[in-house]
Amino acid sequence: MPLTTEQDQVVEELRQADKLLLTTHENPDGDALGSLLAMHWTLEQLGKDSLMFMSPDEFPLPWEYREWTFEGLVGHPPADVEGRTVVFLDCGNIDRMPVDFLQEQGIHIVNIDHHHDNTRFGTVNLVEPDASCTAEIVWRLAHELGAEVTPPIADALYVGLVTDTGRFMYENTTSEAHRMAADLIERGVEPHVVYRRLFEDLPFRRLQLLQRALASLARLDSGTLTLAHLRKGDFEETGALETDAEGIVDHLRAVEGTSVAVLVRELLADDRAGKRKVSLRATDGRVDVSRVARELGGGGHPQAAGFTTSLPYPQLVEALREQVGRQLS
Ligand code: AMP
Ligand code: MN
Ligand code: MN
Repeated sequence: MPLTTEQDQVVEELRQADKLLLTTHENPDGDALGSLLAMHWTLEQLGKDSLMFMSPDEFPLPWEYREWTFEGLVGHPPADVEGRTVVFLDCGNIDRMPVDFLQEQGIHIVNIDHHHDNTRFGTVNLVEPDASCTAEIVWRLAHELGAEVTPPIADALYVGLVTDTGRFMYENTTSEAHRMAADLIERGVEPHVVYRRLFEDLPFRRLQLLQRALASLARLDSGTLTLAHLRKGDFEETGALETDAEGIVDHLRAVEGTSVAVLVRELLADDRAGKRKVSLRATDGRVDVSRVARELGGGGHPQAAGFTTSLPYPQLVEALREQVGRQLS
């Protein structure tokens, strides 16, 4: 397919840039980390000076990504940041990277993403809502730049693809997503090995956290809203980390009659006391959960969205019921 103007512009930006700084969104998921690494290794292969930035607060990363090492990662602004092209990957909104130095005037930003509600905060924006994942955009760019998609790059891209499509289950699982999977498998990806790494060999505390979430299960409004709530004590008593909650909301999606599945979890950091992270998943075409999330201070995709809130729990539940009820009526 011929390149769009936006694609062409970003390919040119990446060809011209000698020094880059890549970053993604806070609480990075598989697509964020996979896109970051794949882009970094692609640029290095092309002889560029590439660095990655993530806040030291993000570590340890979710257990799924334990085998990745991040050489070329900085946890502070490099002195020459103004001389670097800053590439955001999988970040719909600059507030999802709450770091002052990346929000200053004069920073040249290339924004590569697939969130339909991306605020186009970049100097140059490549926003493709039809892409299954940001990794799919990076995959196309790598080919376009003439880079070789090596086994490590293919692995990183495949992780982004598998995690953002919910293992090829969600509505974003297109024929192009499968073509990408086929290409990556031809380049050395072994799906069963990746699956085992991402979804099996689980630390027991993860199952204990899931057990607690399931014990808290509530079905509201005739079951259209299926909701679980994890409190600070659930994490403390099981030894689970915040990142161990990843994936739990997918268990709630599967219940008959559910239109929206919600996982609410209390944040553990002292400076975020009283705050909760809310993950939303829609299984009913009538509901766009990104609208619910935006209404409450976050964002995301029509079928998967999230936000962080200081609302007390009862008010939060009422707000969710009202927002979802409005879309269903
Ligand atoms: P999560 O519930 O964290 O798995 O996130 C699901 C989707 O919602 C992802 O596409 C995220 O990028 C998006 N998302 C989660 N939290 C936020 C937020 N605070 N602001 C904007 N988008 C979010
Ligand atoms: Mn993401
Ligand atoms: Mn994504």
